[in-house]
Amino acid sequence: MTALLRQLSWLLMSWLLVSCIVLIFSTAAHAAIPTSQISAEPIKLESFPIEYSVAPRDAMSLNEVRALTFTPYESQLALGTEAKSVWLRFRLENTASVPRRVFIHFPEAYHNRAVGFYELRDGLLSNKIKIDLNNAKQHPSMIREQAVYDTTLGAGESATFYVHSWSYSHQWFALNVYDEQHSRNALAGTMLDIALMVGILLALIIFNFLLYFSSRSIENVYYALYLISGATWIALSYGLLGNMFGLFGDIALQFHLSLMAMAAFLILFMIAIFDTKRSFPTEHKILSLLLAVIVADFVYGIFDIVGALSYASTIAAIMIVVTLSVGLSIWRKGHPLAIYFLLGHGFFFVFNALAVLYYKSILDFSYVTKHGVGIGIMLEALMLAFIVAYRIKMLEQVKASQEQLRIEAQTDSLTGLYNRRYFHRRANELLAKAKHQNVPLVVLAIDLDDFKQVNDAYGHHVGDQVLVQLAELLRASCRSHDVVARFGGEEFVILLYRTSLSSAEAIAETLRQQVRELKLAAEQADLTVTVSIGVSEVDLNVSSIELALHDADTALYQAKGNGRDRVCVYGDAQDVSLARESN
Ligand code: GH3
Ligand code: MG
Ligand code: MG
Repeated sequence: MTALLRQLSWLLMSWLLVSCIVLIFSTAAHAAIPTSQISAEPIKLESFPIEYSVAPRDAMSLNEVRALTFTPYESQLALGTEAKSVWLRFRLENTASVPRRVFIHFPEAYHNRAVGFYELRDGLLSNKIKIDLNNAKQHPSMIREQAVYDTTLGAGESATFYVHSWSYSHQWFALNVYDEQHSRNALAGTMLDIALMVGILLALIIFNFLLYFSSRSIENVYYALYLISGATWIALSYGLLGNMFGLFGDIALQFHLSLMAMAAFLILFMIAIFDTKRSFPTEHKILSLLLAVIVADFVYGIFDIVGALSYASTIAAIMIVVTLSVGLSIWRKGHPLAIYFLLGHGFFFVFNALAVLYYKSILDFSYVTKHGVGIGIMLEALMLAFIVAYRIKMLEQVKASQEQLRIEAQTDSLTGLYNRRYFHRRANELLAKAKHQNVPLVVLAIDLDDFKQVNDAYGHHVGDQVLVQLAELLRASCRSHDVVARFGGEEFVILLYRTSLSSAEAIAETLRQQVRELKLAAEQADLTVTVSIGVSEVDLNVSSIELALHDADTALYQAKGNGRDRVCVYGDAQDVSLARESN
């Protein structure tokens, strides 16, 4: 019996001891709510001790919350996607001898489904504010994109605050405590760097649409749409949408579609600039597949954005791996733009990785980790702008070399006059035009006299100079709508537009005299050359210039036969010879 009593009393004593320890620890825990002291102004707490607890349920009463276990932390918090409903608490103590008004800022409120502030004095709830972000526009505690709670602590007073942050997806936020002046500054100044980023993107967007209208390359449209998506995402994730347009809650959440749109347009941009369909078919298939996955998630997101976002990080990881591998592969195959794409995309990857590690609370808060996504988008956007510029330069070079080829294909390299092939094309066009306008056309066939002797006497090189000078003379004597061509060797042909046979004959005669008087290069002061010219009018009833060329040749032959250095008109010569024959 006594043994039983002794055992019972042991049991009772140990129970009492355990209770005492528990009591001591719980009061100690209660007393150990992180406390920040506020004394003289300025009050500007931007990183101060708090503690947080991830709530097992979204909606909980304050008493339930008070019973949760809290973990000490700083007032900059990132807990990833698993911690959607988070409570945190801290104490403020006014050690000054005058009352102090404090403003508790929750700058990332725009990101949330709900925000709540609970103030306790001596363990009792003295005030609370709950903000449902779906009805936040008119809420007096929502100041633009931020939630602000203000209270006054009398001299020597302290208060405990519980703040509820209920996010849709990622849990990351900051808490700041300010005096009135700093509160106002914080509300005025936060958006400057973000507005600058969005401003730069907007300028690029407008510029790319303008580029599209001038160049008609579809890549400019994809790039502009990529920028629009990126700018939307930056505006959303930094609270600009809330700040400027009062978009919060479910509607703001829907704008996360811009993330998938950004990825989709980036891939379309890649397909366009690398011309993957034609030049890199394997890479094209892979990119198309990735694009299909992203578009599918986008469509899913239209109906269920939270569901779609749950795949977003996996898709983003696949996207990064695929786009970087495709970029590398295209680079190895020698595409000159691939290196810049890899560089831009590499920036995007590195800075986004920093941001993701911060969101998942693996990395600590810093300007770079917090703004990693924005910085990444910005750097990539600028790199892609460089690619667009580089592409324009490349296309211009291609165009210039095509133009060069075109000119080379239709001109003679020694004299720069049109060649025989181009002459035919142009002459037949002019023939059609002349028929339409019913104006006369005349062909001159010109051949240097005894040119072989010039070459023999002075050398081929001098012969070439003669050809060049003659070509210059012919060109200078013609109007812009006439066609002057070198048909080969020392033979030239001119098509005179809207010219009667008699004026053509006069022109030919003038040419003949000018050739005689041609001042050739100084060292060949004694060298004179002459030409024979056959003239023939084009019959507008025929469909090709061939016959007129043949007739002009006949007249030229006649001119040679008649002693060279003369002009023969086709009909006349034949008439003369026919007359002679009939005599
Ligand atoms: P004809 O008065 O009967 O036309 O006598 P020709 O010597 O001018 O005629 P032929 O057809 O016998 O000779 C043409 C010469 O033109 C032969 C060739 O040496 C010269 N020739 C043809 N092409 C060129 C060229 O590109 N450069 C030079 N220097 N000479 C050329
Ligand atoms: Mg000749
Ligand atoms: Mg000849």
